[in-house]
Parts: sequence; structure tokens; C-alpha cells
Amino acid sequence: MTEETKKINPWQMVLAQIDKAAKQLECDPNMLEKLRHPERSLLVSIPVRMDSGNIRVFKGFRVQHSTVRGPAKGGIRYHPSVDLDEVTALAAWMTWKCAVMNIPFGGAKGGVECDPAELSTGELERLTRRYTAEIMGFIGPDRDIPAPDVNTNAQVMAWLMDTYSMQVGHAVPGVVTGKPIAIGGSEGRSDATGLGVVYMVIEAAKKLNIKLDGATAAVQGFGNVGNSAARSLFREGVKIVAISDKNGGYYCGAGINPFELQRYFGTHRTLEGFPGCDRITNEELLAMKCDVLVPAALENVIHKENAGKVQARILAEGANGPVTPIADEILKDKGVFILPDILANAGGVTVSYFEWVQDLQNYFWNEAEINNRLRQLMTASFKKVMAIAEEKRIDNRTAAQVLGIGRVVEALQLRGLYP
Ligand code: NAD
Repeated sequence: MTEETKKINPWQMVLAQIDKAAKQLECDPNMLEKLRHPERSLLVSIPVRMDSGNIRVFKGFRVQHSTVRGPAKGGIRYHPSVDLDEVTALAAWMTWKCAVMNIPFGGAKGGVECDPAELSTGELERLTRRYTAEIMGFIGPDRDIPAPDVNTNAQVMAWLMDTYSMQVGHAVPGVVTGKPIAIGGSEGRSDATGLGVVYMVIEAAKKLNIKLDGATAAVQGFGNVGNSAARSLFREGVKIVAISDKNGGYYCGAGINPFELQRYFGTHRTLEGFPGCDRITNEELLAMKCDVLVPAALENVIHKENAGKVQARILAEGANGPVTPIADEILKDKGVFILPDILANAGGVTVSYFEWVQDLQNYFWNEAEINNRLRQLMTASFKKVMAIAEEKRIDNRTAAQVLGIGRVVEALQLRGLYP
């Protein structure tokens, strides 16, 4: 952690972003004031019977930043560094993200302070079920709909859906998205975030006249987002020269086949030892000469000290908040084309929206339909963001925030203040 990242409070970052967007939005400052506070924040204690027989109490959060445009929507993160400010910031980014995509959701986020790598499957299930029971009154298909995020997956969503359903006495698939297809999940959901990142890279490449077939990319993180982004880039003919996870990076000048890497990871549960690659650090990966860089792990990985070393032409933010504010300015000066998180990684929440719609109507679409609709919505949002950036002569991130925050403010003005 650098001195800069130690000082960064993600919620303060959100407030600074609101101030920056406000300069471009001619709106009543009172409306923005409302967005500077989450609607509801819940802190829960989660007692779990560990396999040893002892009880351990975990800290959990669920924050609804805004429900002005519809039910709150946002993932659940299991990570040792989860705290209230991080969850609140991520919830606000969900509000803007849903508005950028023009889908009828507000923003929420949840988290449990834990390291799932240290938990057995039984402990993880008991933790998830008790967390769900604790936030039970907060969530629901017309209130707040969780989804996967860092260290949570379709199985965790299945436990959440089951716990909620058992409490109300009937199956409620629409309470959560990102669940397995067998219990009301959607085709295409597991790859949606990474695929969406690549739809945005395709649009950016067209704009910058970069031919993707034969271009190079480096991907940080080989989880849900990084893995699917790497596979989708590979399908476009992009050579993946480097991939990493929390244990470090792997470089291969001739290109890594992410499908083979996925198979290897499936068998070995680690990237370590994948043949034909040289070991590199995560820092070396971020500084790699390549056309496209996809940070798809955690926030603040590109900061004041390493931003100057970034050589990529397109930076596609698979992760939420991977670039610190100072790094943002450095990258802007270097002319790196940034696809900001609330646009670039919106594919996940968009297909989550499709999943919720399918659950509510009990009628399911095929993968081609899902991916076509996803591409249409994301491309339309990309064009809107670019039009705002060009018209107002502002950077892509601010333009996306102007679009998102502007739509939320419009809804707030129309609904008025209760009472
Ligand atoms: P995940 O848990 O599936 O994968 C995270 C990956 O990052 C793993 O490969 C892990 O080893 C790696 N990692 C962790 N710490 C690292 C470090 N210090 N350096 C390098 N790699 C590290 O998580 P995910 O769902 O893929 O989420 C990744 C990011 O994308 C997060 O910022 C998340 O908020 C964001 N996001 C996820 C979704 C989604 O649908 N899952 C949607 C939008 C945004």
C-alpha cells in the first residue's frame, strides 16, 4: 500500500466525484446533497458455528445508496478489508452504473469482513445463510436484489435465495441474481461482466483506430471478471500477453490461451506452474507494453507511483475503482483512453437486470438474445458517454458520472422530497 492509497477513503472519492460532476450539471444543489448520503446502512453481526465447534462472529454490511430509480441493486463481497466506507462507496457507484445503463435500479452493496479461503464449505454456507437472515428485512425482489462480487459466486447466491425462500415459505428466485441457471439464473450471467468489458473495448478500439485482431492485452485478476474478459478478448483475436491473480502474474510474449489457463486453474486451483509462462509481479503486469490493460481485481491498484508507468492505450476498468484520483490525472495527461468502471463493467448488472426480469415473468431467454441485448444497451451507453465527453470537453469518467448522476437527479426532481 502506498502513502496515497493508505489515505484514500473510497466514500470521500465518491463525494469528490459528485462535486466534479456537479460542475457540469446545471441542477439544484439540494438534489445532489441527497446523493451525498446513503439512504440506509445496515451493520450486522453474524455468529457462525465453526467446524471446531467454536462460535466466531463476523461483521457484515448492506448499504442502499439510492432507490430513487427502482429497487436497490448490488453485489456482496467477502473480503478481510471490507468496511462500511468501502461498501457505501461501492453502493453509490452501483447507483451511477445502473443509471448510466438506464436500467430501472438504484444502487446497493453488501459485504462480510472475512477471508473465505480460510473457511470450509460448511462454514461459508452457514455464514451466508446467517448473513441473509440478518439482512432479510432489507432485501427482496422489489426492494434490494444482491448479486455476486469479489469472492462470492453462484453457489453463494443459491444459499442466499434458499434462505430467503425458506423464510417467506415459497421460492423467490428474483431476490438475487447471478444464481445457477437450474434455480432461475440467466444464460450469459456468469460471463456478462467480462464480455461487457470487451464490448466496450471493441467500441474504444474503433474510435482509436486500433485493430483488435493481433492487438495485445494484459489482464489483472483471473476471477469472474478477469477470466471472462480474457476469454472474450482472445475470441476477438487479441493476444493476452499477461494475466495475474493475487499470487502474482504470468507473462508469455507469444500469448496465453485463457481457455487453457481456465482448464489448468480448474484442475490445480492455482495459476502457479502454468506451462510456457514467465513469472512477473502484479506491478510489472500493470506497466506492461500492450494495447489494452484490464484491471479486474481490486480498487486503487493504479496509483500515483505506478500510473506513469502504464503503457497501455486503452484502460478498461473491469474492477470497481482501480484508479486513484491522482493516477487518473496522470493517465489523462498520458493520453490513455479510460473506459470507466461504471460503464466498462456494467455488463454484470445489466444481465442481472435481464435475470430479474426473466424471474419475474417466469420466461427465459437464450444466450444469444441476452448477449445481443447486452451489446445494444452497452453500445448505446458508450455512445452517450462519448457524446457528453466531446460536447463538454471532459474526460470519459466525468462524462459517465454526468450521465449517471444526471439521470438520478432527474428522477429525484420528478419524485420530489417526501413528505
Ligand atoms: P473474484 O473474486 O471472482 O476474482 C478476483 C480476482 O482478483 C482473483 O483472481 C484474485 O486472485 C485476484 N486478486 C485479488 N487480489 C489481488 C491483488 N492484490 N492483485 C492481483 N490480483 C488480485 O472477483 P470478481 O467478481 O471477478 O471481481 C473483480 C472486480 O470486478 C471487483 O472490483 C468487483 O467489484 C468488480 N466487478 C465484479 C462484477 C461481477 O459480476 N462479479 C461486476 C462488476 C464489477
